[in-house]
Amino acid sequence: MRELYIKAYGKINLGLDVIRKREDGYHDLDMIMQSVGVYDDIIIKDTENIGEIKVETDRFVLENNKDNLAYRAAKLLMDEFDVKAGVSIYIYKRIPVAGGMAGGSSDCAATLKGINELFELGLSEEELRERGVKLGADVPYCIMGGTAIARGIGDELTKLPPAPQCHLIIAKPPVSVSTAYVYGRIRPAEIEKRPDIEQIANAIKDGDLKTMASLLYNVMEDVTVGDYPIIKDIEKVMLDNGALNSIMSGSGPTVFGIFDDEEKAKNAVSVLEKAGLTEQLYLTEFVN
Ligand code: ATP
Repeated sequence: MRELYIKAYGKINLGLDVIRKREDGYHDLDMIMQSVGVYDDIIIKDTENIGEIKVETDRFVLENNKDNLAYRAAKLLMDEFDVKAGVSIYIYKRIPVAGGMAGGSSDCAATLKGINELFELGLSEEELRERGVKLGADVPYCIMGGTAIARGIGDELTKLPPAPQCHLIIAKPPVSVSTAYVYGRIRPAEIEKRPDIEQIANAIKDGDLKTMASLLYNVMEDVTVGDYPIIKDIEKVMLDNGALNSIMSGSGPTVFGIFDDEEKAKNAVSVLEKAGLTEQLYLTEFVN
């Protein structure tokens, strides 16, 4: 029996624009993705029960079954390569569920990598990404990780140099937002303010944290905030306590704040804790 331990990192969006709704129902996006130090632990073991895929997590809200993206990842590769073994997958969740941090996609990506290694399938990263996109638009990025521009439905990736390091607060309010709900309400043609993705990418290339922070923008926030004003409350606490900037990630409701001063970031964490605005709260940094 072999056992693998993999960290599945969450992501935030340093910029997120929705360009248009496509005929196939997906949306064309323009985003800057960044992996962060909030991760799920994934433990993958092979077993003797040929064809059996067992997925367990520490979250009762999550399907411990065939809908789990880790299950679907294992199934896809084990069927294709006719693997003569079973597998047991345990997921310890830290990435907020339905939080806008691509937690499910990241578990999916980690499982694809893990199954590839465990059963020595010999797939390249590119080949894993081709398979990953069948399971979710963010999966190819989660396989790549680090700092990247993502276009198309999110799978057209351009790697960027690591974003300038900072002290990063990740704050998930006690509400859940379905990605489908936000996409259903966004009207791309009516969006008034958009992020300048090229300019953010240039600030990253220049290693210029202050400029990068000043350009953060997520068009989905304008939709989500209407229903969940707590997002703005959290951002206000971050900004009042020294954040260079603070915005929502993905379709929300997770908010992040960027600090260049560790003491200010630590203080903002304790103010947020006392205010009782969050369900999950992390002080972390970018991961590349
Ligand atoms: P995204 O940013 O990719 O739109 P999200 O971060 O908002 O997603 P996720 O935590 O990835 O949200 O999960 C969305 C839904 O996917 C969950 O409500 C759950 O039903 C399903 N799901 C399936 N597998 C997983 C998993 N391993 N971890 C989390 N959610 C999962």
